[in-house]
Amino acid sequence: MTLFKVGAAFRTNQLLRGTSSPDLSFFLIKQTRLAPLFPPWLSSRLLAPNNTMSLHSSSDSSAVEQTCAAHAITAQEFHTMRTTAVEGKSFAYCPYSKFRVGCGLLTASGRVIRGANVENASYPVGTCAERTAIGTAVVGGEGKGIRAIAVSTDISPPASPCGMCRQFIREFCDSHVPVIMFDKNDDFCVMTVEELLPMSFGPDKLPPPGAPGTM
Ligand SMILES: [Zn+2]
Repeated sequence: MTLFKVGAAFRTNQLLRGTSSPDLSFFLIKQTRLAPLFPPWLSSRLLAPNNTMSLHSSSDSSAVEQTCAAHAITAQEFHTMRTTAVEGKSFAYCPYSKFRVGCGLLTASGRVIRGANVENASYPVGTCAERTAIGTAVVGGEGKGIRAIAVSTDISPPASPCGMCRQFIREFCDSHVPVIMFDKNDDFCVMTVEELLPMSFGPDKLPPPGAPGTM
């Protein structure tokens, strides 16, 4: 196994107090999907879509067709992913956050795999819907060639995958793979893995064993 040295430094206290970088602090809170637990005046800011997001109705066949054409999926696959993600929320185990998330993952074979968030009394042990779906795909032998990921929540506008999930998705998906985010009304927006995690670090960035910089 390759040991790869990485150095990093964080100014955690200042960030959490929001004194040095309020926007980044809000971003970090948003990424934990705890934003709905905050007062409305704050959660609305946390969940506000950025300027690059445009919402479409999943009942708008024209918008769905354009999305499918742009990301090499069929309308049937789109709607199967959507219904799987929406229904997946009913399988969520989230007694602590009450924040249900469902996932529908389209594999290379055309199968759609369900995911849901699974929490734990020891909070950090919980797992997000995206990671349960990808884990299911991997152990089922379908971890390679994932074509698209759909995520559904009970809020609007749609929630995007948390930071940890973005990195997890990056491990198994090419940069062009679309992540389709549905809100409580089945309106959706799409971003690719590259757009969600630009300049990402992935398995292709690791040097081979014995290369300079490794032990
Ligand atoms: Zn996550």
